[in-house]
Amino acid sequence: MSIGLVMPEDNQKDISLFLNGDSFDLKVNDLNQTHFNKKLLIQSKNQRMHLEGKECESIILTNRQRIIKDHIIVDSVIAGRGFHWQKRIKIKVLGDIIIKIIGHSLFVINRIHLEDYLMCVATSEMGSDCPTSLLEAQTIVARSWILAAAEKKHERLGLDACNDDCCQRYQGISNLTKSSIKATVNTRGKAIMHSDTICDARYSKSCGGITESSANVWAMDQKPYLESLVDDKSQMKKNISNEESFKTWMKLQHSSYCGPQFVDENKLGEYLGNVDKNSNYYRWKVSYTMDEIIQIIFVKTGKLFTDIKQLLPLKRGVSGRILHLNIIGTLEDKNDYKLSIESEYEIRRILHPKFLYSSAFTIETNSHTNSSEHFTLKGAGWGHGVGLCQIGALGMSLAGKNTNEILYHYYKQTQIKDIYE
Ligand SMILES: [Zn+2]
Ligand SMILES: [Zn+2]
Repeated sequence: MSIGLVMPEDNQKDISLFLNGDSFDLKVNDLNQTHFNKKLLIQSKNQRMHLEGKECESIILTNRQRIIKDHIIVDSVIAGRGFHWQKRIKIKVLGDIIIKIIGHSLFVINRIHLEDYLMCVATSEMGSDCPTSLLEAQTIVARSWILAAAEKKHERLGLDACNDDCCQRYQGISNLTKSSIKATVNTRGKAIMHSDTICDARYSKSCGGITESSANVWAMDQKPYLESLVDDKSQMKKNISNEESFKTWMKLQHSSYCGPQFVDENKLGEYLGNVDKNSNYYRWKVSYTMDEIIQIIFVKTGKLFTDIKQLLPLKRGVSGRILHLNIIGTLEDKNDYKLSIESEYEIRRILHPKFLYSSAFTIETNSHTNSSEHFTLKGAGWGHGVGLCQIGALGMSLAGKNTNEILYHYYKQTQIKDIYE
Protein backbone atom coordinates (compact mmCIF):
# COMPACT_ATOMS: atom_id res chain seq x y z
CA MET A 1 0.00 0.00 0.00
CA SER A 2 1.14 3.53 -0.73
CA ILE A 3 -0.31 6.01 1.75
CA GLY A 4 0.20 9.78 1.43
CA LEU A 5 1.32 11.29 4.75
CA VAL A 6 2.16 14.79 3.53
CA MET A 7 0.14 15.76 0.48
CA PRO A 8 1.08 18.33 -2.19
CA GLU A 9 -1.89 20.50 -1.12
CA ASP A 10 -0.49 20.72 2.42
CA ASN A 11 2.20 23.05 1.06
CA GLN A 12 4.55 21.71 3.70
CA LYS A 13 8.12 23.05 3.56
CA ASP A 14 9.92 20.88 6.08
CA ILE A 15 9.72 17.52 7.75
CA SER A 16 11.89 15.72 10.29
CA LEU A 17 12.40 11.98 10.36
CA PHE A 18 13.84 10.00 13.20
CA LEU A 19 14.92 6.42 12.53
CA ASN A 20 14.25 4.13 15.46
CA GLY A 21 16.39 1.02 14.95
CA ASP A 22 19.22 -0.08 12.64
CA SER A 23 17.18 -1.70 9.90
CA PHE A 24 17.09 1.21 7.46
CA ASP A 25 18.63 1.74 4.03
CA LEU A 26 18.75 5.22 2.54
CA LYS A 27 18.77 6.05 -1.14
CA VAL A 28 19.19 9.65 -2.27
CA ASN A 29 18.62 10.27 -6.01
CA ASP A 30 18.62 6.45 -6.39
CA LEU A 31 22.12 6.14 -4.88
CA ASN A 32 22.69 4.06 -1.76
CA GLN A 33 24.09 6.05 1.15
CA THR A 34 26.49 4.27 3.48
CA HIS A 35 26.56 6.85 6.26
CA PHE A 36 23.56 8.79 7.43
CA ASN A 37 22.18 10.21 10.64
CA LYS A 38 19.27 8.80 12.60
CA LYS A 39 17.66 12.22 12.47
CA LEU A 40 17.06 13.70 9.04
CA LEU A 41 15.74 17.15 8.20
CA ILE A 42 14.16 17.53 4.77
CA GLN A 43 13.23 20.96 3.47
CA SER A 44 11.73 22.55 0.39
CA LYS A 45 13.48 25.72 -0.78
CA ASN A 46 12.75 27.44 -4.11
CA GLN A 47 11.02 24.31 -5.48
CA ARG A 48 14.06 22.16 -4.71
CA MET A 49 14.33 19.51 -2.00
CA HIS A 50 17.18 19.61 0.52
CA LEU A 51 18.30 16.78 2.77
CA GLU A 52 20.38 18.09 5.66
CA GLY A 53 21.01 21.22 3.57
CA LYS A 54 22.08 19.34 0.38
CA GLU A 55 19.93 19.55 -2.74
CA CYS A 56 18.37 16.30 -3.99
CA GLU A 57 15.43 15.02 -6.01
CA SER A 58 14.26 11.90 -4.24
CA ILE A 59 14.69 10.18 -0.90
CA ILE A 60 13.81 6.55 -0.23
CA LEU A 61 14.15 5.07 3.23
CA THR A 62 13.61 1.31 3.22
CA ASN A 63 12.91 -0.61 6.40
CA ARG A 64 14.27 -4.20 6.25
CA GLN A 65 12.34 -5.21 9.38
CA ARG A 66 8.64 -5.62 9.97
CA ILE A 67 8.52 -5.29 13.75
CA ILE A 68 7.05 -2.53 15.91
CA LYS A 69 10.44 -1.59 17.42
CA ASP A 70 11.89 -0.59 14.03
CA HIS A 71 9.90 2.43 12.92
CA ILE A 72 10.29 5.93 11.56
CA ILE A 73 8.99 8.94 13.47
CA VAL A 74 7.58 11.55 11.10
CA ASP A 75 7.30 15.07 12.50
CA SER A 76 4.82 16.42 11.62
CA VAL A 77 1.76 15.58 9.52
CA ILE A 78 -1.71 17.10 9.32
CA ALA A 79 -4.66 15.23 10.81
CA GLY A 80 -8.22 16.32 9.98
CA ARG A 81 -7.31 18.33 6.85
CA GLY A 82 -9.88 21.16 6.59
CA PHE A 83 -12.22 19.70 9.19
CA HIS A 84 -13.16 21.09 12.61
CA TRP A 85 -10.50 18.98 14.34
CA GLN A 86 -7.50 19.82 12.12
CA LYS A 87 -4.16 19.68 13.92
CA ARG A 88 -0.52 18.66 13.40
CA ILE A 89 0.65 15.39 14.88
CA LYS A 90 3.89 13.45 15.12
CA ILE A 91 3.45 9.84 13.96
CA LYS A 92 5.45 6.61 14.06
CA VAL A 93 5.22 4.39 10.99
CA LEU A 94 6.27 0.92 9.93
CA GLY A 95 7.41 0.29 6.37
CA ASP A 96 9.25 2.63 4.01
CA ILE A 97 9.23 6.39 3.53
CA ILE A 98 9.53 7.99 0.10
CA ILE A 99 9.88 11.75 -0.26
CA LYS A 100 9.50 13.82 -3.41
CA ILE A 101 8.81 17.46 -4.11
CA ILE A 102 5.81 18.71 -6.05
CA GLY A 103 5.90 22.47 -6.70
CA HIS A 104 6.90 24.04 -3.41
CA SER A 105 5.53 21.27 -1.24
CA LEU A 106 7.10 18.11 0.08
CA PHE A 107 5.20 14.93 -0.77
CA VAL A 108 5.75 12.11 1.72
CA ILE A 109 4.58 8.55 1.07
CA ASN A 110 4.54 5.60 3.45
CA ARG A 111 4.86 2.22 1.70
CA ILE A 112 3.47 -0.38 4.07
CA HIS A 113 2.00 -3.91 4.17
CA LEU A 114 -1.80 -3.92 3.97
CA GLU A 115 -2.32 -5.71 7.30
CA ASP A 116 0.10 -3.36 9.10
CA TYR A 117 -1.75 -0.39 7.63
CA LEU A 118 -5.13 -1.79 8.78
CA MET A 119 -3.81 -2.44 12.27
CA CYS A 120 -3.08 1.29 12.51
CA VAL A 121 -6.35 2.45 10.93
CA ALA A 122 -8.49 0.70 13.57
CA THR A 123 -6.96 2.70 16.43
CA SER A 124 -6.68 5.93 14.43
CA GLU A 125 -10.36 5.96 13.51
CA MET A 126 -11.50 4.94 16.99
CA GLY A 127 -9.70 4.74 20.35
CA SER A 128 -7.79 1.59 21.28
CA ASP A 129 -9.92 1.20 24.45
CA CYS A 130 -12.96 0.29 22.36
CA PRO A 131 -14.43 -3.21 22.83
CA THR A 132 -12.93 -5.94 20.65
CA SER A 133 -16.01 -6.35 18.43
CA LEU A 134 -15.88 -2.65 17.49
CA LEU A 135 -12.16 -2.81 16.64
CA GLU A 136 -12.68 -5.98 14.61
CA ALA A 137 -15.66 -4.50 12.74
CA GLN A 138 -13.68 -1.31 12.05
CA THR A 139 -10.75 -3.32 10.69
CA ILE A 140 -12.93 -5.43 8.37
CA VAL A 141 -14.68 -2.31 7.10
CA ALA A 142 -11.36 -0.50 6.54
CA ARG A 143 -9.97 -3.55 4.70
CA SER A 144 -13.05 -3.79 2.48
CA TRP A 145 -13.01 -0.08 1.68
CA ILE A 146 -9.35 0.00 0.63
CA LEU A 147 -9.52 -3.28 -1.33
CA ALA A 148 -12.72 -2.24 -3.11
CA ALA A 149 -10.78 0.92 -4.07
CA ALA A 150 -13.91 2.45 -5.54
CA GLU A 151 -13.11 6.04 -4.65
CA LYS A 152 -9.52 6.26 -5.96
CA LYS A 153 -9.25 9.80 -4.64
CA HIS A 154 -5.47 10.04 -5.09
CA GLU A 155 -4.87 7.74 -8.03
CA ARG A 156 -3.20 10.55 -9.97
CA LEU A 157 -0.49 10.68 -7.28
CA GLY A 158 -0.06 6.90 -7.34
CA LEU A 159 -1.52 6.50 -3.85
CA ASP A 160 -3.95 3.91 -2.48
CA ALA A 161 -5.12 6.44 0.13
CA CYS A 162 -4.09 9.52 2.09
CA ASN A 163 -3.56 9.47 5.87
CA ASP A 164 -6.72 11.31 6.74
CA ASP A 165 -10.51 11.51 7.00
CA CYS A 166 -10.70 12.15 3.26
CA CYS A 167 -9.87 8.42 2.89
CA GLN A 168 -9.51 6.75 6.28
CA ARG A 169 -7.52 7.86 9.28
CA TYR A 170 -4.04 6.45 9.53
CA GLN A 171 -1.85 7.76 12.34
CA GLY A 172 0.77 5.07 12.57
CA ILE A 173 1.53 2.73 15.45
CA SER A 174 1.37 5.13 18.42
CA ASN A 175 -2.13 4.15 19.51
CA LEU A 176 -1.69 0.38 19.20
CA THR A 177 -2.40 -1.84 22.18
CA LYS A 178 -2.21 -5.60 22.62
CA SER A 179 -5.99 -5.89 22.18
CA SER A 180 -6.08 -3.70 19.07
CA ILE A 181 -3.28 -5.72 17.44
CA LYS A 182 -5.21 -8.89 18.31
CA ALA A 183 -8.34 -7.47 16.67
CA THR A 184 -6.44 -7.09 13.39
CA VAL A 185 -4.84 -10.51 13.60
CA ASN A 186 -8.24 -12.13 14.35
CA THR A 187 -9.82 -10.61 11.25
CA ARG A 188 -6.90 -11.13 8.88
CA GLY A 189 -8.10 -11.44 5.27
CA LYS A 190 -11.81 -10.93 6.11
CA ALA A 191 -13.86 -8.62 3.92
CA ILE A 192 -17.51 -7.73 3.40
CA MET A 193 -18.80 -9.13 0.11
CA HIS A 194 -21.89 -8.58 -2.01
CA SER A 195 -22.41 -10.93 -4.99
CA ASP A 196 -18.73 -11.94 -4.94
CA THR A 197 -17.54 -8.35 -5.06
CA ILE A 198 -15.77 -6.66 -2.17
CA CYS A 199 -18.09 -3.99 -0.75
CA ASP A 200 -17.27 -0.34 -1.01
CA ALA A 201 -17.82 -0.22 2.75
CA ARG A 202 -18.36 3.43 3.59
CA TYR A 203 -18.65 4.61 7.18
CA SER A 204 -19.03 7.79 9.18
CA LYS A 205 -18.76 8.84 12.81
CA SER A 206 -22.45 9.14 13.75
CA CYS A 207 -25.54 8.75 11.60
CA GLY A 208 -27.69 10.61 14.15
CA GLY A 209 -30.32 7.86 14.25
CA ILE A 210 -30.91 7.01 10.58
CA THR A 211 -28.17 6.23 8.06
CA GLU A 212 -28.22 7.96 4.67
CA SER A 213 -28.51 6.30 1.25
CA SER A 214 -25.25 6.44 -0.69
CA ALA A 215 -26.80 7.87 -3.87
CA ASN A 216 -27.87 10.97 -1.91
CA VAL A 217 -24.29 11.75 -0.93
CA TRP A 218 -22.17 10.71 -3.91
CA ALA A 219 -22.79 10.58 -7.64
CA MET A 220 -22.95 6.79 -7.67
CA ASP A 221 -25.55 4.12 -8.31
CA GLN A 222 -27.32 3.16 -5.11
CA LYS A 223 -25.52 0.17 -3.61
CA PRO A 224 -27.95 -2.36 -2.05
CA TYR A 225 -25.74 -2.57 1.06
CA LEU A 226 -25.55 1.22 1.46
CA GLU A 227 -29.30 1.84 1.71
CA SER A 228 -30.64 3.93 4.57
CA LEU A 229 -31.73 2.16 7.78
CA VAL A 230 -32.84 3.09 11.27
CA ASP A 231 -29.85 2.65 13.57
CA ASP A 232 -31.59 0.62 16.27
CA LYS A 233 -32.63 -2.97 16.83
CA SER A 234 -35.95 -2.58 14.96
CA GLN A 235 -34.53 -3.40 11.47
CA MET A 236 -37.01 -0.83 10.19
CA LYS A 237 -36.75 1.70 7.44
CA LYS A 238 -37.88 5.26 7.98
CA ASN A 239 -37.80 8.25 5.70
CA ILE A 240 -37.57 11.69 7.33
CA SER A 241 -36.77 13.64 4.19
CA ASN A 242 -39.84 15.80 4.50
CA GLU A 243 -39.42 18.99 6.58
CA GLU A 244 -42.19 18.21 9.10
CA SER A 245 -41.16 14.59 9.62
CA PHE A 246 -37.56 15.67 10.24
CA LYS A 247 -38.62 18.29 12.81
CA THR A 248 -40.84 15.76 14.59
CA TRP A 249 -38.05 13.14 14.60
CA MET A 250 -35.63 15.66 16.14
CA LYS A 251 -38.03 16.40 19.02
CA LEU A 252 -38.62 12.77 19.98
CA GLN A 253 -36.42 10.34 21.94
CA HIS A 254 -35.07 7.32 20.08
CA SER A 255 -33.20 4.23 21.13
CA SER A 256 -30.47 4.65 18.49
CA TYR A 257 -27.30 2.63 18.88
CA CYS A 258 -25.37 5.92 18.42
CA GLY A 259 -27.57 7.75 20.97
CA PRO A 260 -27.15 8.26 24.74
CA GLN A 261 -29.07 5.07 25.62
CA PHE A 262 -26.20 3.00 24.24
CA VAL A 263 -23.21 5.37 24.41
CA ASP A 264 -22.79 7.63 27.45
CA GLU A 265 -21.69 10.92 25.92
CA ASN A 266 -19.54 11.75 28.95
CA LYS A 267 -17.51 8.65 28.24
CA LEU A 268 -17.39 9.02 24.46
CA GLY A 269 -13.94 10.66 24.65
CA GLU A 270 -12.44 7.40 25.92
CA TYR A 271 -13.53 5.63 22.77
CA LEU A 272 -12.96 8.19 20.03
CA GLY A 273 -9.76 8.68 18.06
CA ASN A 274 -7.15 10.80 19.82
CA VAL A 275 -7.60 13.75 17.44
CA ASP A 276 -11.36 13.95 18.01
CA LYS A 277 -12.92 16.51 20.26
CA ASN A 278 -15.16 15.15 22.99
CA SER A 279 -18.54 16.53 22.10
CA ASN A 280 -22.16 15.58 21.68
CA TYR A 281 -22.38 14.37 18.13
CA TYR A 282 -25.72 12.59 18.30
CA ARG A 283 -27.49 15.92 18.88
CA TRP A 284 -25.69 19.25 18.62
CA LYS A 285 -26.37 22.96 18.35
CA VAL A 286 -24.48 25.79 16.65
CA SER A 287 -25.56 29.45 16.80
CA TYR A 288 -24.40 32.44 14.78
CA THR A 289 -24.99 36.19 14.92
CA MET A 290 -25.87 37.85 11.62
CA ASP A 291 -22.30 39.22 11.34
CA GLU A 292 -20.76 35.82 12.02
CA ILE A 293 -22.74 33.98 9.38
CA ILE A 294 -22.12 36.73 6.79
CA GLN A 295 -18.39 36.49 7.49
CA ILE A 296 -18.29 32.67 7.33
CA ILE A 297 -20.17 32.56 4.02
CA PHE A 298 -17.90 35.28 2.60
CA VAL A 299 -14.72 33.41 3.57
CA LYS A 300 -16.04 30.12 2.18
CA THR A 301 -17.70 31.31 -1.03
CA GLY A 302 -16.47 34.86 -1.78
CA LYS A 303 -20.09 36.12 -1.75
CA LEU A 304 -20.48 39.14 0.52
CA PHE A 305 -24.03 39.42 1.80
CA THR A 306 -25.07 42.51 3.81
CA ASP A 307 -28.09 40.71 5.15
CA ILE A 308 -29.16 37.06 5.21
CA LYS A 309 -32.90 36.55 5.34
CA GLN A 310 -33.20 32.81 5.21
CA LEU A 311 -31.42 29.49 5.12
CA LEU A 312 -33.93 27.44 3.17
CA PRO A 313 -33.64 23.65 2.89
CA LEU A 314 -35.05 22.52 -0.48
CA LYS A 315 -34.22 18.83 -0.37
CA ARG A 316 -33.35 16.39 2.39
CA GLY A 317 -32.11 12.82 2.23
CA VAL A 318 -33.76 9.86 3.97
CA SER A 319 -31.81 10.58 7.19
CA GLY A 320 -32.81 14.25 7.21
CA ARG A 321 -29.47 15.43 5.82
CA ILE A 322 -29.99 18.54 3.71
CA LEU A 323 -28.87 17.89 0.13
CA HIS A 324 -29.89 21.23 -1.35
CA LEU A 325 -30.02 24.51 0.57
CA ASN A 326 -30.56 28.08 -0.56
CA ILE A 327 -29.01 31.02 1.27
CA ILE A 328 -31.27 33.97 0.57
CA GLY A 329 -30.26 37.57 1.28
CA THR A 330 -29.03 40.90 -0.01
CA LEU A 331 -25.62 41.59 -1.52
CA GLU A 332 -23.48 44.74 -1.19
CA ASP A 333 -25.02 46.19 -4.35
CA LYS A 334 -28.42 45.98 -2.57
CA ASN A 335 -29.68 43.32 -4.98
CA ASP A 336 -31.41 40.24 -3.64
CA TYR A 337 -29.34 37.11 -4.10
CA LYS A 338 -29.90 33.39 -3.76
CA LEU A 339 -26.85 31.18 -3.19
CA SER A 340 -27.70 27.59 -4.03
CA ILE A 341 -25.66 24.79 -2.34
CA GLU A 342 -26.30 21.36 -3.73
CA SER A 343 -24.50 18.74 -1.65
CA GLU A 344 -24.37 17.73 1.99
CA TYR A 345 -20.58 18.14 1.91
CA GLU A 346 -20.71 21.71 0.56
CA ILE A 347 -23.44 22.65 3.07
CA ARG A 348 -21.20 21.41 5.90
CA ARG A 349 -18.18 23.21 4.45
CA ILE A 350 -19.90 26.55 3.88
CA LEU A 351 -21.96 26.88 7.08
CA HIS A 352 -19.12 26.62 9.60
CA PRO A 353 -15.74 28.39 10.06
CA LYS A 354 -14.16 24.93 9.77
CA PHE A 355 -16.73 22.19 9.09
CA LEU A 356 -20.24 21.54 10.32
CA TYR A 357 -20.76 18.11 11.91
CA SER A 358 -23.53 17.08 9.52
CA SER A 359 -26.15 18.55 7.22
CA ALA A 360 -29.05 17.01 9.18
CA PHE A 361 -30.19 20.12 11.03
CA THR A 362 -33.19 22.35 11.65
CA ILE A 363 -32.83 26.12 11.31
CA GLU A 364 -34.29 28.56 13.84
CA THR A 365 -34.15 32.26 13.08
CA ASN A 366 -34.38 34.80 15.88
CA SER A 367 -36.17 37.96 14.76
CA HIS A 368 -33.61 40.22 16.51
CA THR A 369 -30.87 40.54 13.92
CA ASN A 370 -28.32 41.55 16.60
CA SER A 371 -29.09 38.47 18.72
CA SER A 372 -26.14 36.20 19.52
CA GLU A 373 -28.38 33.36 18.37
CA HIS A 374 -29.76 34.90 15.22
CA PHE A 375 -29.43 31.61 13.34
CA THR A 376 -29.46 28.42 15.38
CA LEU A 377 -28.77 25.09 13.72
CA LYS A 378 -29.85 22.05 15.74
CA GLY A 379 -28.42 18.94 14.21
CA ALA A 380 -28.01 15.19 14.33
CA GLY A 381 -24.94 13.09 13.65
CA TRP A 382 -21.41 13.65 12.44
CA GLY A 383 -20.35 12.96 8.87
CA HIS A 384 -22.15 11.84 5.73
CA GLY A 385 -24.04 9.10 7.59
CA VAL A 386 -23.69 6.41 4.91
CA GLY A 387 -22.86 2.81 5.81
CA LEU A 388 -21.52 1.85 9.22
CA CYS A 389 -22.12 4.39 11.99
CA GLN A 390 -18.94 4.22 14.09
CA ILE A 391 -20.49 5.50 17.32
CA GLY A 392 -23.50 3.23 16.68
CA ALA A 393 -21.15 0.29 16.17
CA LEU A 394 -19.53 1.28 19.47
CA GLY A 395 -23.00 1.30 21.09
CA MET A 396 -23.69 -2.17 19.70
CA SER A 397 -20.35 -3.50 20.94
CA LEU A 398 -20.90 -2.01 24.41
CA ALA A 399 -24.28 -3.78 24.41
CA GLY A 400 -22.50 -7.10 23.79
CA LYS A 401 -23.08 -7.51 20.05
CA ASN A 402 -20.38 -9.42 18.21
CA THR A 403 -18.42 -8.37 15.13
CA ASN A 404 -20.68 -10.09 12.59
CA GLU A 405 -23.86 -8.77 14.23
CA ILE A 406 -22.49 -5.23 13.92
CA LEU A 407 -21.47 -5.64 10.26
CA TYR A 408 -24.69 -7.36 9.19
CA HIS A 409 -26.73 -4.64 10.92
CA TYR A 410 -25.13 -1.88 8.84
CA TYR A 411 -24.42 -3.69 5.57
CA LYS A 412 -27.54 -5.57 4.52
CA GLN A 413 -27.42 -8.35 1.90
CA THR A 414 -23.72 -9.01 2.47
CA GLN A 415 -21.52 -11.89 3.59
CA ILE A 416 -18.28 -11.68 5.53
CA LYS A 417 -15.74 -13.89 3.78
CA ASP A 418 -12.07 -14.77 4.02
CA ILE A 419 -10.51 -13.43 0.86
CA TYR A 420 -6.94 -14.38 1.75
CA GLU A 421 -5.22 -16.48 4.39
ZN1 LIG B 1 -7.69 10.89 0.86
ZN1 LIG C 1 -25.94 5.80 14.15
